[in-house]
Amino acid sequence: MVRELPRMVRYLKERGTYVLFNTNGTLLNRRKGRQLIDAGLDELRVSLDAAEAPAFKMVRGLDLFDRIVANLRSFVVMQRELKVTAPRVSLWLTGLKETMEQLPAFVRLAYELGVSEVYLQRLVFFPGGIGLARRQSALFDQLEARDEELLREAQSLSASLGVTFNASGAADPSTSVTKKGSRNPWSLCRRPWTLMYFTANGRALPCCIAPFSMRGYDSFTLGDATQQTLREIWNGSRYEEFRRALLSDRPHPACSNCGVRWSL
Ligand code: SF4
Repeated sequence: MVRELPRMVRYLKERGTYVLFNTNGTLLNRRKGRQLIDAGLDELRVSLDAAEAPAFKMVRGLDLFDRIVANLRSFVVMQRELKVTAPRVSLWLTGLKETMEQLPAFVRLAYELGVSEVYLQRLVFFPGGIGLARRQSALFDQLEARDEELLREAQSLSASLGVTFNASGAADPSTSVTKKGSRNPWSLCRRPWTLMYFTANGRALPCCIAPFSMRGYDSFTLGDATQQTLREIWNGSRYEEFRRALLSDRPHPACSNCGVRWSL
């Protein structure tokens, strides 16, 4: 964990920002957890990806499942002791053919840990594939009867246990892995109208996805926060042009796989 993270969270909170981040949970010990609570963190998303150690090792290649679960358990207990509800903790499972059987147990694990939100994350993959990040492991547009059954089981279990079960992008899990008929799937993206993303050196990007979509940042760098105000960037010609392209048949190349190889 970045040593200055609690101070960074505090800095943002003092400026009225909603602060969240994703973690793999391996370093979430009691001391660091307490620092994050005291700093005022709003939301903590834990990528766990499995409901048991062997499946975790298959996905992540490391034997860290028990440690992460112990960290989470102790963090939630500490929140109860302190009588605080922030940060909101959620568990995330990247949807893979190989781990779908884990899904109902994943919901149950969240319940047992006292975590009230579970998310199914759509797999991002590339044409050549990297490890399990490959087309044949993705659920998107490849749901089989057994996968659908497991999704239904997880949904009904979550409803009965009072655990919220969603997918990223405010979609429900089934919708997020079902192909929509749209000719221009990227056109559903609202990020360039709703948020800005900055790199550590001040580049303004339309989202966090574009850098994974193609090499080189220059073509989708929409401003420079070390030289311009946020208002100038937001209303600038590069942002305007990027938005116009996204609504057309010829979006920026970084956008053309959105809604196809990953969700929006
Ligand atoms: S790369 Fe994807 S997420 Fe980013 S602005 Fe384009 S369509 Fe939206």
